Amino acid sequence: MSKRTTSSVTSINVKTLGAADRVHGSVRFRYTIAGKYIEHTVQLAQTACHYGGVRHWFRCGYCSRCVGVLYLSGGQCACRHCFKLAYKSERENDTYRLYRKADKIRERLGWGAGVALPDGAKPKGMHWKTFYRIKAQHDATVRRVFGSTAQWCDKITSRLQRIDSKI
Ligand SMILES: [Zn+2]
Repeated sequence: MSKRTTSSVTSINVKTLGAADRVHGSVRFRYTIAGKYIEHTVQLAQTACHYGGVRHWFRCGYCSRCVGVLYLSGGQCACRHCFKLAYKSERENDTYRLYRKADKIRERLGWGAGVALPDGAKPKGMHWKTFYRIKAQHDATVRRVFGSTAQWCDKITSRLQRIDSKI
C-alpha cells in the first residue's frame, strides 16, 4: 500500500512534444529542484501505425523500454516500471483482488464464493490440521477484504461529497 501512484508524480507525455522536438531523435528536459539544475536527455523512438502514420515513444534511459509517458521524481527521469509506480486503477483493484482471493479459499473449503455468506463446515476427508490452516487464511483474507472495502467506501463517499458541493 506504500506504492505511489502515477498521478502523484510529475509526468511528461510524448504527445505533448512538438513536431520540432521529435525531428531530432532525442529531447532534453531542463529544470531546477531546490536550486539544483537538472537536465535529462531522452532518446525518442517511433513505430509505424497499422493505418499509416507513426507513433512516437520515449526510450526510458534506465531500461530502454519504449513508453508514452515518463516520470520525473527525485532528479530522476524514468518510466513507471523503473519507478515502480502503480496505476491508480491497479491500486483500486486491490479490493477486488482480495475478494477473489477470499472466494478462491472458500472454494477450496467447498463453502461457495461470497465473503458475506456464513462459514461452512470442514469438508469430508480433509485433515483438521489442513482445515484450520486454510480457515485461518480465509479469516485473515476476509478481515483484509472488509478493511479494504471500508477504505474504498470512504474514498467514494468523499468523492461524492466533492461532486455534491459543486452542484
Ligand atoms: Zn524504465
